[in-house]
Amino acid sequence: MRLTTLGTGTASPSTRVNAGHLVEAGAVTLLLDCGSGVAHRMGTIGADWRGITHLAITHFHPDHTLDLTTLMFAWKYGALPPRAAPLTILGPAGISRLIEQLVAIYGETVRAPGFPVTVRELAPGERADLGDGVTLEAHKVPHTAESVAYSVERGGARLVYTGDTGFDTAVAEWARACDVLLAECSLPEQLAVASHLTPSQVGVMAEVADPARLVLTHFYPPVLEEDILGIISLRYSGDVVLAADGWTTEIEER
Ligand SMILES: [Zn+2]
Ligand SMILES: [Zn+2]
Repeated sequence: MRLTTLGTGTASPSTRVNAGHLVEAGAVTLLLDCGSGVAHRMGTIGADWRGITHLAITHFHPDHTLDLTTLMFAWKYGALPPRAAPLTILGPAGISRLIEQLVAIYGETVRAPGFPVTVRELAPGERADLGDGVTLEAHKVPHTAESVAYSVERGGARLVYTGDTGFDTAVAEWARACDVLLAECSLPEQLAVASHLTPSQVGVMAEVADPARLVLTHFYPPVLEEDILGIISLRYSGDVVLAADGWTTEIEER
């Protein structure tokens, strides 16, 4: 299983684009979130945007969803020959309605781009079989009403992506002993809010989850002024990576 962090930024414009991460596992190419700039980032780093088989959305904030339309237009008009392979879009309850609303604005291309599109709503606790041994499971997180984290598994390898979340040890328990915990790390302590994580909160959650590796993403610029690694090391002694757009790692299957 290979993870590539495509967009490690937030709603705050910077050199990092909005949220999006690519998981390549067997025959499955899964895009987790697709905020603004993610489609373009795939182009700049040479990622296989044409080969995406599944798109999973954690919640409906624009910095996680805006490139859904961009990608549909890319597959219809930006790929020669146009895409024919089917696509499955997964998300919390409401993802179908979101797509209907995008159709009302941008037209039928969003729902019927010339290749088969299946939309599947995944309830928290539900697990989807994506094919070729890959499963996707959702877990409720405290951010917006619909927000979920995702666990992607294949061949014993397990990646957990928090999406956007507030502090919650239940999410950490659910992620326990995963290979990679891809966690949001939005804000410094002095700007803490209930719907996002600070480095010290990530540290506590990583202590509970005890992943083989902690990979951080979703940085508002002020948090990068902090000694993130130093703060986290007070609670978690494993390998910590501050991800950048285009950073990639192999997660070994067993
Ligand atoms: Zn959000
Ligand atoms: Zn966000």
